[in-house]
Amino acid sequence: MTRAGEPLDVLVVGGGATGLATALGCARAGMRVAVLERGPAPAFDPATAPVTRVVTLNAAAMGLLDRLGVQEALAANRAHAFSGMQVWDAHGPAHIRFDADDLGVPELGWTVENAALEAVLWQALRERGVALWPETAWRSVDLRPDRVDVYAEGHAPLASARLVVAADGARSALRERAGIAVSERPYHARGVVATVETAQGHGDTAWQRFDDERILAFLPLGDGRCSIVWSLPELEADDVMAMDDPTFIRELSGAIDGGPGPVTGTSPRASFPLVARHARDYFAGRVVLAGDAAHTIHPLAGQGLNLGLADVDALLRQLAGPNRRDPGDPRGLRAYTRARRPENAMMQRAMDGFRLLFGTRRAGLPELRGAGVRLVDGLVPVKRQLALRAFGLDGIRR
Ligand SMILES: Cc1cc2nc3c(=O)[nH]c(=O)nc-3n(C[C@H](O)[C@H](O)[C@H](O)COP(=O)(O)OP(=O)(O)OC[C@H]3O[C@@H](n4cnc5c(N)ncnc54)[C@H](O)[C@@H]3O)c2cc1C
Repeated sequence: MTRAGEPLDVLVVGGGATGLATALGCARAGMRVAVLERGPAPAFDPATAPVTRVVTLNAAAMGLLDRLGVQEALAANRAHAFSGMQVWDAHGPAHIRFDADDLGVPELGWTVENAALEAVLWQALRERGVALWPETAWRSVDLRPDRVDVYAEGHAPLASARLVVAADGARSALRERAGIAVSERPYHARGVVATVETAQGHGDTAWQRFDDERILAFLPLGDGRCSIVWSLPELEADDVMAMDDPTFIRELSGAIDGGPGPVTGTSPRASFPLVARHARDYFAGRVVLAGDAAHTIHPLAGQGLNLGLADVDALLRQLAGPNRRDPGDPRGLRAYTRARRPENAMMQRAMDGFRLLFGTRRAGLPELRGAGVRLVDGLVPVKRQLALRAFGLDGIRR
């Protein structure tokens, strides 16, 4: 397979949500772009039951998807707006609730199935005539001063591009090939995910309960079910994965005590290792990182893809502006790094702080947590600022 010739402006490696959103933004800005994905083309059928990989997206992420012209298609593929969020501590009086009405916004966020988001973006790219290469893997790359040449098995040329976006996920091979170092810190925990039915209904609210290191989220889906993310120490996660369904349902009902339970039914479960990673740099030569290839964080606040889409937004600004003449111009890539790396690092620290604050029962701490959270809950302007930041509403014009 030979796709050599005039170099592309941008080659995106990785057809997850980050890569596909980047490619769509580039195509809409008139750039010559292609997507290389080692897996099959994404597919989604809204007539089937919800699958286990679901993300909550905030207003900033949805704003980007709207500007990319896919928000309507997403709504037709089961994106679900929710208006409340409730967070509480299993071992103390800490309890906080956020409501869209109180914040003067129509919703706090959306639950979106990963497969739906990827399929909608893929379709939009196809309609624009963007070159999409599923089930294609690169074997080697030449990092040249003016372009990157990408080859398949046997040194067969795949593509040349003036900028390659590495959106190939947490274990990015392209990041490694570009020589970008990454710091890695395992949480020694796994995220167990499933789709469940509950007796009481979710009330369009995202529910989250902290029980020391165990953090359980119930995220509301459009069909009344909830997508759960249960972060557990590794050995406990293994036990939960090995349970039969009735035992799992019983344990889960106990763990969401005070929420939308009891649980009455479940899909099969899956689990993911939880690791914090951060690339030391976001670009090397003409290879730039975005999304999980640049950073991964604990899923406790559902921020991973929100940060990835914020990367996309920042990168597209450079590509459509200062880097219009040369997408690989290091000045624009440096500006992108400056815009995103400190922000992503801050979010990682915030997640770690949250885990430390809620992850211990040392004498007096649950009461102190309760007092602190009650204080925030009572201080309307502070709570409002916290919520606007958390839900990506600051800086959004409505
Ligand atoms: C349990 C759990 C719950 C989460 N919940 C949330 C949430 O509520 N909200 C949120 O915002 N985030 C959440 N996240 C994080 C979110 O899922 C990720 O941040 C997001 O999916 C990353 O998208 P991505 O496109 O950057 O990477 P990926 O989705 O990993 O996509 C990478 C793509 O690159 C392809 N690829 C890999 N290697 C190659 C190669 N060599 N050549 C070509 N293609 C390649 C892969 O096949 C894949 O399609 C959660 C994560 C976990 C683990």
